[in-house]
Amino acid sequence: MKIDVSEILKQPGASISFYERGSVAATGDEEYPLEIDDPVDVRGVATYIGEGVYVEANVKGRVKLVCSRCLNPFRKPFDLNCEARFVEEGFSIPRDQEDEDDIETFTLEGSTCNLDDMIKHEIILNLPMKPLCRPDCRGLCPVCGKNLNEGDCDCEKFPEGHTLFGKKLLEALEERSKENGRS
Ligand SMILES: [Zn+2]
Ligand SMILES: [Zn+2]
Repeated sequence: MKIDVSEILKQPGASISFYERGSVAATGDEEYPLEIDDPVDVRGVATYIGEGVYVEANVKGRVKLVCSRCLNPFRKPFDLNCEARFVEEGFSIPRDQEDEDDIETFTLEGSTCNLDDMIKHEIILNLPMKPLCRPDCRGLCPVCGKNLNEGDCDCEKFPEGHTLFGKKLLEALEERSKENGRS
């Protein structure tokens, strides 16, 4: 998704507001493969700040994630505010300034800002550590691997939070308290 900022590049302080509905290139990097659905709605303001263009935008859309419990892909809506600086190729923001204001810097492509990287960066920052397809996702049966959201399986179930070892321990404790009760 690109916005043309040629009309503000002559006068520092000039700004334009924009609204775009379109697609964001879906290739994340290898560590964070990202699939972003079409369309993505982007509403924002671009301001020429002399050393580049400062963009503030609200981004709405849906991203495809994989549930950390049942491993099924699902779609999660996002509604994010992002900001970034776009500077001419070869121009670098002084390191200390970049650290200070904590704004990501991208390269202007001629007189256009390509918002894809800014949007992907913000989505990745806001991805849940353990995505869930729904808050009460039942996950996969640890024995047979069946997706328990689709129904129960015939495997022996233990109360939630109890491992096989925990179950044996409970049985042993119950056994002992029975014995104690007798004496
Ligand atoms: Zn799930
Ligand atoms: Zn099972």
